[in-house]
Amino acid sequence: MFYRDLDIPAIIEIGSSISKDIDLILKKHHIYYKEKILFTQKILLDKYKDFIEISNYSKIILVEGGTVEELGRIELEKLSEDMLLVAFGGGSVIDLVKMYASKNNVAYITLPSTLSNDAIYSPIARLKEGEKKKSFGVHAPIGIIVDVDIIKQSPDILLLAGVGDLISNLSAVQDCKLAIKNNNERIDSFALTLAKISANGLFPYTYSDIRSVEFIEQLANGLIVSGLSMMMDKTSRPASGAEHLISHAIDEYFPEKSTYHGIQVAWAQLILEKVFRKNNNYGRLCEFYNNIGLNTVICQYIQFSEGDFINLIPKARAMRNRFTILNFI
Ligand SMILES: [Zn+2]
Repeated sequence: MFYRDLDIPAIIEIGSSISKDIDLILKKHHIYYKEKILFTQKILLDKYKDFIEISNYSKIILVEGGTVEELGRIELEKLSEDMLLVAFGGGSVIDLVKMYASKNNVAYITLPSTLSNDAIYSPIARLKEGEKKKSFGVHAPIGIIVDVDIIKQSPDILLLAGVGDLISNLSAVQDCKLAIKNNNERIDSFALTLAKISANGLFPYTYSDIRSVEFIEQLANGLIVSGLSMMMDKTSRPASGAEHLISHAIDEYFPEKSTYHGIQVAWAQLILEKVFRKNNNYGRLCEFYNNIGLNTVICQYIQFSEGDFINLIPKARAMRNRFTILNFI
């Protein structure tokens, strides 16, 4: 029989106040571990003490997140297969736990405190090694639990960064099509469809919606479907094209000017549409950026001009061997 195996999490739950029900959710899915260990930051532990206290965590490990160096400082007496790690935090905590769990071959669940990027499911962890951010391949979580009430409390900039990371799939998908046509690459076409659908779902929304249950569910589901598209293709390609290369080049060569990943990729995507891609998507995209508030935060957080973008192109092209629109410039 010709099927393919995909690492789809056993648990995908999105809803209000569900973080306190984690034990029930595990039980409902017939998932039992001897120990359940929470990884989070001090600030989140203080803020969400109530739900954390009622869930039976055998241990709570406070982390900063975001660096490879911290992996060596995590102290657990003994890791066993009967341990479930729960990553509660933003992308930096989640990426740290993804990497730690993958290195030690233990299961983990992501419980995001915000949705600033596709970390909740993507097979990639972005962590700083020394002064530079790097991408590492990791295994998928066995569960994703998104508590809408917690996400609602995260700052605008983080939610908009999540929007930026997801909407950039539309840029990545165009690059995939260029690579299929001009570089003889095989990229899963249904994975590209999923990447596109997940991004297109954002267009009806405006800034006034970003704390609504409906929008947060859309964003969470979109990021999960986007993660699934990467799992299907077994690469990050459906969600990472030239706009990601530009963002990686900023992180690599201008770390002092780097900002939220999702804002960087959104900025790069807009310039690519405006100047380099000849397909009339720019108007629709720019209108969406205005409506949702991305143009405002790009002005606040991005310290590069359109002219600087041109200078970033050779650096971006050299970031990795990935055929994109940058190969034509
Ligand atoms: Zn991304």
